[in-house]
Amino acid sequence: MSTPQAEPSFRQSVDLMFNRAAALMDLSPGLEQKIRVCNSTYTVRFGVRLRGQMQTFTGYRSVHSEHMEPVKGGIRYSLAVNQDEVEALAALMSYKCALVEAPFGGSKGGLCIDPRAWDEDELEQITRRFAYELIKRDLIDPSQNVPAPDMGTGEREMAWIADQYARMNTSDINARACVTGKPLNFGGISGRVEATGRGIQYALREFFRHPEDVAAAGLAGSLDGKRVIVQGLGNVGYHAAKFLQAEDGARIIGVVEHDGGIFCDTGIDIEALRNWILRHGGVKGFADGEFIENGAKLLEADCDILIPAALEGVINLSNAQKVQAPLIIEAANGPITSGADQILRAKGTVIIPDLYANAGGVTVSYFEWVKNLGHIRFGRLQRRQEEARHQLVIDELDRLSVALGDAWSLSPGFKEKYLRGADELELVRSGLDDTMRTAYQAMREVWHARADVEDLRTAGFIVAIEKIAASYRSKGL
Ligand code: NAD
Repeated sequence: MSTPQAEPSFRQSVDLMFNRAAALMDLSPGLEQKIRVCNSTYTVRFGVRLRGQMQTFTGYRSVHSEHMEPVKGGIRYSLAVNQDEVEALAALMSYKCALVEAPFGGSKGGLCIDPRAWDEDELEQITRRFAYELIKRDLIDPSQNVPAPDMGTGEREMAWIADQYARMNTSDINARACVTGKPLNFGGISGRVEATGRGIQYALREFFRHPEDVAAAGLAGSLDGKRVIVQGLGNVGYHAAKFLQAEDGARIIGVVEHDGGIFCDTGIDIEALRNWILRHGGVKGFADGEFIENGAKLLEADCDILIPAALEGVINLSNAQKVQAPLIIEAANGPITSGADQILRAKGTVIIPDLYANAGGVTVSYFEWVKNLGHIRFGRLQRRQEEARHQLVIDELDRLSVALGDAWSLSPGFKEKYLRGADELELVRSGLDDTMRTAYQAMREVWHARADVEDLRTAGFIVAIEKIAASYRSKGL
């Protein structure tokens, strides 16, 4: 009797994917090992007096690679947080930052907590205490280690962390750069909240610009009309689904949430479903679609694009064979285990891997960090000057239009569109789009140029590892 193949842990899964790529590279064994291993993980257990008694919490901050500093990576609040998970996520951050050329090493943090079980005041006390423990060990610091939001955290938690850091470092002029994903009025940047979902949209747009790649997934045409299933309508999943539906004509036919799934072949109104979830805590009861008790079954449904945007390990040895989507884009970190990855590759499924797909968040975090260090909003210096120069062109065109009479005039709306200088949001989106396009092209070049590289994930790892290796070599390691 053959024993069933065991599922590796999340960290082992990331390492196995790393190993597949490293085996095709010419790295010395020492350097390969240096890049793969997680440098350090700090575990903290702290008490906070809440509801009349001392409550103890466990938190982690892992630093995977310090080939560049600061190291960067989100802080997750979930009961499933553990050392293995935080180390896997920190490793992915190193590869992600390298791939999209964000000048950071990789890190990640987590607090083992159910954020829904505590009210806002209590969460603030817990967050400030966790931040205090990390700050005093330089595990939150503008030049050493810069967290960001992840599952279960958002702008609110980042503001508490930034304020805690400022209180403990009163003379640090760069204090606000100690964390990214802050509210706009507290040192944040326009477009950070939407960034990861927006990055998913830009990644898919870039994929669909290459008919050869689209054909590899057995698809054709553009994003318009493609049937999409999304798992997790949180920050990342909601923004990705919303933009794909509103701006690219994709049809979101399924949404999987923690309490079940919603299916509607003619398309789900994402805005309406999101509002329902915010009011009722889940998708159950939403009228415009069929409720599916076992939501995870929707991962196996017939669709063109599957977007797992919730948590890791959801496509694994138990369901990979049944997944019908020909194209999967990993909005979450590690949604496909290494065993499932192997099964899907054998079936010909094209996977746009997490280390590339969800890099929009860290890319815009990078812009926010630079903005904080520069102490100035992007576009503030040049916007009006740009408008003045555009006005010169408009004046000339107006003169031409008068001279030509009825024979020629400017298109409606052109003047207003052309005159307006770019604001911060437009600049951020432009920088994000450029980053997503450039990184995809780097990956696909390796994918198509090398006969021994079968998939985008291996190609992405090769590009990332090469950059990290070059950085270590320059340091003389
Ligand atoms: P979030 O907490 O905003 O949303 C997660 C969503 O998933 C929630 O709506 C939750 O209800 C849902 N969910 C939880 N368990 C589920 C289950 N078993 N089945 C279906 N849905 C479930 O988190 P997020 O920030 O959107 O992060 C989602 C994923 O994206 C994570 O893997 C995270 O690491 C990754 N990611 C996030 C960012 C970012 O900027 N927030 C950046 C890069 C990667």
